[in-house]
Amino acid sequence: MSLWRLDAAAPLVKNPMVAADPAPHRPADAARWVARDAEVVWHGFTQMAAYADNAPIIVDRGEGRELIDVDGRRYFDGISSLWVTTLGHRVPELDEALRRQIDRIAHSTMLGNGNRIVIELAEALAAVVPVDSPHLLFASDGAAAVEQALKMAFQFWANQGVAERQTYLTLGAAYHGDSVGTLSLGDGGFGTDVFAPLRFSVVRTPGYDDPAWADKAVGVLRADGGSFAALVLEPLVQGAAGMLVADPADVRRVVDQARRAGTLVVADEVATGFGRTGKLFASDWCAMRPDILCLGKGITGGYLPMSVTVACRRVFDAFLGDDLGAQTFSHGHSYGGNALGAAVALEHLRLLQTGAVLDNVTARAGQLASLLSEQVAGHPAVAAVRQHGLMIGVELAPPRAGLYWGRQVCAGTVRRGVLLRPLGDVVVLMPPLTTTAGEARRLVAVLRAALDDLTGGDASHGQPVGDGR
Ligand SMILES: *Cc1c(COP(=O)(O)O)cnc(C)c1O
Repeated sequence: MSLWRLDAAAPLVKNPMVAADPAPHRPADAARWVARDAEVVWHGFTQMAAYADNAPIIVDRGEGRELIDVDGRRYFDGISSLWVTTLGHRVPELDEALRRQIDRIAHSTMLGNGNRIVIELAEALAAVVPVDSPHLLFASDGAAAVEQALKMAFQFWANQGVAERQTYLTLGAAYHGDSVGTLSLGDGGFGTDVFAPLRFSVVRTPGYDDPAWADKAVGVLRADGGSFAALVLEPLVQGAAGMLVADPADVRRVVDQARRAGTLVVADEVATGFGRTGKLFASDWCAMRPDILCLGKGITGGYLPMSVTVACRRVFDAFLGDDLGAQTFSHGHSYGGNALGAAVALEHLRLLQTGAVLDNVTARAGQLASLLSEQVAGHPAVAAVRQHGLMIGVELAPPRAGLYWGRQVCAGTVRRGVLLRPLGDVVVLMPPLTTTAGEARRLVAVLRAALDDLTGGDASHGQPVGDGR
């Protein structure tokens, strides 16, 4: 039977981790691997001087929704390996798709040439993306997909001799990646302020934390809509901002105003795409059809680095011209359209389209909403719980700055066998889309116990930390 099957009768949590014993435990093997790691690896978004002291998990293998470390300890992957894993680890169908492809070819360049499996994937995606008559330009990371989008939007106008549309309308709290172009679209933070002198300027209206964000964006589009190459936004949920959730009708209203202003609409669905929100794409909730759509993270189910920029016919056509001429989009990455990634992505899309996975997202999202409201929302350490689908942010309420509550709570869940990673003082819950009811119960119980660590326990909420079954 498939490891990822949504079968509560055969849960994957074989040996629930030390749920009753939150004491740190660093056996010799893990310690040795951490030392070797710290000697040669530079980890992203990580202060390396503190890395080894923060009890990192050194993964040896995975199984279903669990990571297994070098000492055989199991951790529920509560952040889907930074939001990329959808069905789980070692999904038999995806493993098989990868094996089949490796017997044909691993990679061939997409610059000026094609590859059969990539064409098949593009056809399958074209049939489901919320973009009119799409063409797909593949890359490897979400940032590259957004970078391609912003360059496409810029050259779209240049190719038509329009000189006044050279800037972008973006939102407060936005995150679009770590390259200099995508950092410019983003609102900064995460320790990236040092790059401010490199960032090009954009026009920014408030993010989803401002109840009037849509009115303000509409106002700017009304006044200055003719000056923007594109409106760039994360439809429905601003993920890295700490899971700020917008009303779909507001998103639609802003997109409609951008259309009236003739501005291109770029939807960054790197985080929200492929079922995270309960529909295949967040744009579907908002009843919007962007001109350019950016996808990444879950596209291969978390298996291989792949991203794609999807352009509508109108954008694509503006680049048609003489061979070797100036209309050409002179951009493309070495590994764009990797065949192994394409084979996995194609099988992954097929599995998502069977419907069972999205149904499970809806069921788990509802279950987690009630569990969180019962056990977490009223906790004295918690300021707010935000959620859409299986994108959840639990904002903590530290009494003063500098207490690193986010870090502490996640360390507490890791000790109890649930891997979480915070965004500042927001604890992110992004469980795989195939999470079972028992795993959801365990996730919330463990989070609750880690919150109680902060406040010295709170009997009024007393829920035992069980194994979730
Ligand atoms: C993660 C993310 C990106 C960047 O993707 P990478 O693969 O990390 O480069 C861009 N946009 C959004 C909305 C994201 O969540």
